[in-house]
Amino acid sequence: MSTLRHMPTPADTSADTGARASSHNFAALPAEAWLNRFAQLSQDTQARLGVPLGTALLGEPLPTPRWVATSDGLARELGWPADWRNDDALQVFSGNAVWPGMAPMATVYSGHQFGQWAGQLGDGRALLLGEVDAPQGPQELQLKGAGMTPYSRRADGRAVLRSSIREFLCSEAMHALGIPTTRALALTASPEAVRRETLETAAVVTRVAPSFIRFGHFEHFAHSGRPRHHEALAALLDFVIAHHFPQLRGQPQPALALLDAVVQRTAELMAAWQSVGFCHGVMNTDNMSILGLTIDYGPFGFLDAFDPDHICNHSDDRGRYSWNNQPQIGYWNLRALAQALLPLVPDAQDDPKALTEVLQTYEQRFPQAMNARWRAKLGLQAERAEDVELAIDYLRLLAAGRVDFTIAFRRLGGFVSEGSPEALASDARNAPLRDLFLDRAAFDAWALRYAQRLQAEGSTDAERAQRMGRVNPLYVLRNHLAETAIRRAQQGDDSEVQRLHRLLQNPFDAQAGCEADADFPPSWAQSIEVSCSS
Ligand code: AMP
Ligand code: MG
Repeated sequence: MSTLRHMPTPADTSADTGARASSHNFAALPAEAWLNRFAQLSQDTQARLGVPLGTALLGEPLPTPRWVATSDGLARELGWPADWRNDDALQVFSGNAVWPGMAPMATVYSGHQFGQWAGQLGDGRALLLGEVDAPQGPQELQLKGAGMTPYSRRADGRAVLRSSIREFLCSEAMHALGIPTTRALALTASPEAVRRETLETAAVVTRVAPSFIRFGHFEHFAHSGRPRHHEALAALLDFVIAHHFPQLRGQPQPALALLDAVVQRTAELMAAWQSVGFCHGVMNTDNMSILGLTIDYGPFGFLDAFDPDHICNHSDDRGRYSWNNQPQIGYWNLRALAQALLPLVPDAQDDPKALTEVLQTYEQRFPQAMNARWRAKLGLQAERAEDVELAIDYLRLLAAGRVDFTIAFRRLGGFVSEGSPEALASDARNAPLRDLFLDRAAFDAWALRYAQRLQAEGSTDAERAQRMGRVNPLYVLRNHLAETAIRRAQQGDDSEVQRLHRLLQNPFDAQAGCEADADFPPSWAQSIEVSCSS
């Protein structure tokens, strides 16, 4: 591995990370391709204010890494050559080496966890490798599980294979569902032992996003009370607007403008999650992206048998982050962001009215985004006041019968609405949907309303089925699918991870031989518990 600079031990990480002269065999990516604007900002605030935004350091080496899976589609989007996945890259994406031009660092943030101020957190096991220029705009590459950082607190800086497989697969699955998310480029694994409840092994996910800045980055500099931290906060705001919200440049009230944009993105993200039955599990403010991306996949889950109060995180005893609570928690988190922006709005300390007004637009924006999603899931094109009730009543039926969320919406696409009202219930083509419900009479009554609503907008079943097939997925990353892949990978067989990765790239299209992946979860799935342990 002579072509790469290997990571020194953490003790001698004071080296200037920009001055690596070693050659490398990744010719398509010159050192100049690495822009590292966040690292630059951190250096600037250090020089100007004595307040860095993190710490430059290298990963802790992991022995004998192997590739578990890679997203070659994402590498293509980055403009990388087909042979990017070489031995050097394996070292880089397991935290053992860096390419020239990278400027690795761990960033500092704070946050509210389970509704309580948790103080300083930071990248305890994430390492921002650098920011690379790409056709779709600059992208940051970040390792998760690359070892201890100054923000590791009492933990080990590692991520286990189990949770890394889940993060890798779900990031790419969410992207394919059209939901804003951080991406996953690579998953590598090592035999290195990591202690959790039992002894497990280490893995590293390489995540990709335009930025990994969280609400918690703003909260950190707003609440620290240390000198010049509000100036660092202002610099962070300017940076985020300049690089990630160019449409807001030159706004007279930049903090209000940013809050406005983030309220909109968060409202849309919450609606997107709800619409596919995604439960994040740990919606702490440090796990909220300023870009409105899904970030930090931990004990997430997709709804199976529909229960609006479903709690996917075994550590969440009170259900703060249940599926039904997510939109409200999104709002709560935005309030924490608004509070963090207070020092940047003139006179807001005395009169926060302007910030509050922007914040409160969530109360219209979320329902608007959510209703548009439900309407699309029902295949409706026109907008009518009664549609919300129709959608809510379908969800009520699902809840009453604990009907599988994904299957119920998918089969609704095949609902035959044309013909006489009496024929709907007896039409054999409607049986796969109707049979999901124990209370057939209740379903029939709802189905009649639905059919009438469809007729009122002149909907044709064939076209509607097509439309609904593009919003109601056939395949989602159910816990038992991930679990099967995890168990095999823990035995050294990564093929199921790779198969699921491929499958979930086309979640809306039936794939031959994958019928079981779209089916109800097996009974053993109920015994799977996912918690914050990762
Ligand atoms: P999470 O609940 O995964 O969002 O993590 C909350 C905080 O704990 C973040 O600051 C993480 O970086 C940190 N953290 C979680 N797990 C570890 C670990 N194994 N080692 C170091 N820091 C960790
Ligand atoms: Mg986190």
